[in-house]
Amino acid sequence: MDVYEAAEKVMHDALVVFDGVKKRHKGKAKVRRLVIGLGELSPIKVNELADALATLIEGSEIDNAELEVVTSPGVVECICGFSGRPTVFEVGEGKVVAECPKCRKVELLVHEGKGVEIKEIIVN
Ligand SMILES: [Zn+2]
Repeated sequence: MDVYEAAEKVMHDALVVFDGVKKRHKGKAKVRRLVIGLGELSPIKVNELADALATLIEGSEIDNAELEVVTSPGVVECICGFSGRPTVFEVGEGKVVAECPKCRKVELLVHEGKGVEIKEIIVN
């Protein structure tokens, strides 16, 4: 998933949530704040996603929302039995590696931390 795909997915999700809220409030709702979680194992950078979202949000229904992109911790499982947040480091251009903090293997089963998601949406 590249940064634009990620931004479009999360914007779509936000608009779907907002649509539901509007229906409940008879169209009088406004999104005040939108917090997006970006997985720490994703090759996308926080500032890149924030820029792409800022472009998408312009002229949309949630134009006035305050936007924040935060890093979501990864959750992995390793064959050594470790389960939890991996050690994450960057190995050059946009490539991120997750390592087991216990046995240092990098062949991990990733449960969380690769995608983008809405963390918080504040409507009033
Ligand atoms: Zn391990």
